[in-house]
Amino acid sequence: MQSFLSHISQLFLQSSCQSCQRASSEFFCPFCQAQLHTGIRSPLIEPPSTHHPFPLFAWATYDTSLRQIIQQLKYNNQPAIGTWLGTEMAKSWIHAKLHQKFPRLLVVPIPMHKSKEKQRGYNQAEIISRSFARQIGYRHQPNALIRIRETQPQSELGLDDRAQNLESAFSLAPNFKSNQPVLLLDDIFTTGATLRTAIKLLENHNICIWGSAVTARGHLDPTLKIPKKVPQF
Ligand SMILES: [Zn+2]
Repeated sequence: MQSFLSHISQLFLQSSCQSCQRASSEFFCPFCQAQLHTGIRSPLIEPPSTHHPFPLFAWATYDTSLRQIIQQLKYNNQPAIGTWLGTEMAKSWIHAKLHQKFPRLLVVPIPMHKSKEKQRGYNQAEIISRSFARQIGYRHQPNALIRIRETQPQSELGLDDRAQNLESAFSLAPNFKSNQPVLLLDDIFTTGATLRTAIKLLENHNICIWGSAVTARGHLDPTLKIPKKVPQF
């Protein structure tokens, strides 16, 4: 019994922050938690714009600390980070009383292509959206959208190519219907091209859309290829 207990306490003592690997008894150490919370945006909702034709709930700025933990989630087999992020996003949603204002939404994550999902073991947007929906009490429909075409990573493309790359990347699951407005969920928002493509598809099928929620709101990558239409100074 004693050795069992010492084994358990050793595990406990050995646990480390999922972001910076410092020793920590909590999922993220106090330093990383504080860093992450300084990135939470205010206001949380952006009105419709040319980048996104519906309201956009953008939880936090895509800064260094959030970038690190999203990379851990995506490339280091740490799905629990997605569950944590979904819960934190939901806490902010509830704190802003958005669950009272919008009591009936259907949460739909942006899908990954099956072959990529198999390689990673999970779709991080689905992990985030599942815990977000569960915490608020929204319905979750992970298979409403299907990624039918493997696309090049968006970060490797210029603005014009991004939209082209995504064209016909998604299809709607057969027989998908919803009598509740859809809330699309993705992990990162950069140019908005992915969400706009999914929105267009839902609109073409006359599905009612509330808007989207994203964990991290990025800004255009300065290393991005400059689109042809933008004048250069
Ligand atoms: Zn840490």
